[in-house]
Amino acid sequence: MPVATEVRTKYEAVIGLEVHVQLLTQSKLFCSCSTRFGDPPNTHVCPVCLGLPGALPVASRAAIEYTIRIGLALNCTIADWCRFARKNYFYPDMPKNFQISQYDEPLCTDGWLDVTVEPEGGGEPRQVRVGIERVHLEEDTGKSLHIGGATGRIHGADYSLVDYNRAGIPLVEIVTKPVDGTGALAPVVARAYVTELRDLLRALAVSDVRMEEGSLRCDVNTSLSATGSGRWGTRTETKNVNSLRSVERAVRFEIERQAAVLDEGGRVVQETRHFHEDTGATTAGRSKEEAQDYRYFPEPDLVPVAPSREWVEQIRASLPELPAARRARLKAEWGLSDHEFSMIQNAGAVDLVAATVTAGAGPAEADEGGHRNRPGHPHHRQQAQEHPPPPEQMRHLSGQRRPCQPRRHPRGGQHRHHPGPQRAAAARHGAEHGGPRRRAGLTPAPRHTGPPLPARYAARRAHTTSGVPPAAAGAPGEPRAWNG
Ligand SMILES: [Zn+2]
Repeated sequence: MPVATEVRTKYEAVIGLEVHVQLLTQSKLFCSCSTRFGDPPNTHVCPVCLGLPGALPVASRAAIEYTIRIGLALNCTIADWCRFARKNYFYPDMPKNFQISQYDEPLCTDGWLDVTVEPEGGGEPRQVRVGIERVHLEEDTGKSLHIGGATGRIHGADYSLVDYNRAGIPLVEIVTKPVDGTGALAPVVARAYVTELRDLLRALAVSDVRMEEGSLRCDVNTSLSATGSGRWGTRTETKNVNSLRSVERAVRFEIERQAAVLDEGGRVVQETRHFHEDTGATTAGRSKEEAQDYRYFPEPDLVPVAPSREWVEQIRASLPELPAARRARLKAEWGLSDHEFSMIQNAGAVDLVAATVTAGAGPAEADEGGHRNRPGHPHHRQQAQEHPPPPEQMRHLSGQRRPCQPRRHPRGGQHRHHPGPQRAAAARHGAEHGGPRRRAGLTPAPRHTGPPLPARYAARRAHTTSGVPPAAAGAPGEPRAWNG
């Protein structure tokens, strides 16, 4: 549901996102315990991660390297000298009664990540640059299980259990700068940012980014101020939002809720809030601590982190092709417009189309396979979405149905061929002989004029020009069920 019109014009939303991501290192941040997920409780523990007296931490080089990889991919400055800090607070799942984190000297600062969103009602996608305030490294806490209550929270529980397997797993916190000026798109921008960040982290191979297992967790800050006031309102922090769709819903709910409070002449309270998956609502948690409540001080048991410039440059040189660059390359290779490409992307079908093109089909046929898997498409089946046909099979299917269908190039009004049999054969040859995925034999196809548009491209163009979305796209601003 889009943000109500009167809310949109009366107030401006500012959002901020804090993402915690567990690193895929073999061992914990300050000891050699395993980080493996799903093993019996308290089987990966030692004096260091249990916080026993006299145990001393030693920082993991791999965790520091992964953090620098993330910082570089987010265009950050990498500190040449920084320290860990002690964050003091008591919680049963944190056996030392302090967390080793970073405070005023984070490893990476001042970067950005560009995200692309589609305006409500269609139109060309809009790019939003999300500033990155900091990327720092800290240790994860253990995990409490509250037994006997209805909600799984401590209130109403009969007893609690603690599992320290997670205590000490390296955790990177990525904090954005405040994101303003996105208007009614704020909830969509929040979701697009977390989606892009997840894809980036996956490409960097630093985390398995499984939101459902908690290896990627998101806190969403939202504030509202009167339009044109020049001041930002009081923010709330919605904790541990655990799906992409929920990120969007949480921001939308907070905008509507805070607008209602302000409309009645009330004040928004600075607090943490819980998000409820079933209703999409947030409810008040604890009032928010200030930084001084944690009595941060430099961690005396660890030496400072001082990565050499040579090492940082080695890491930079080893970065893989990042998602934005890969998309730009594929879009150019396939000859698609921004809008066409984002349709494939929103369907989560980029990898499928790429694999199918590599297997020998043209982008049009490969894309058709992705479309069949979309809700709203006549061929859609839930099972098909969960188990799409393998690219090899899709090549045969699409080849039989539509052997050689040229289509209009979106910009020039021209048409181009998908790869013909020669290019397909070259791709197969490359694959069978272990060649690189970039298909040396596949040069850009010649452009020429030809038959009219396939129906689905006509429908997409109607979306762009008239503002009426095709059925497959859902209502503007609606969460897209297949993308979460
Ligand atoms: Zn340990």
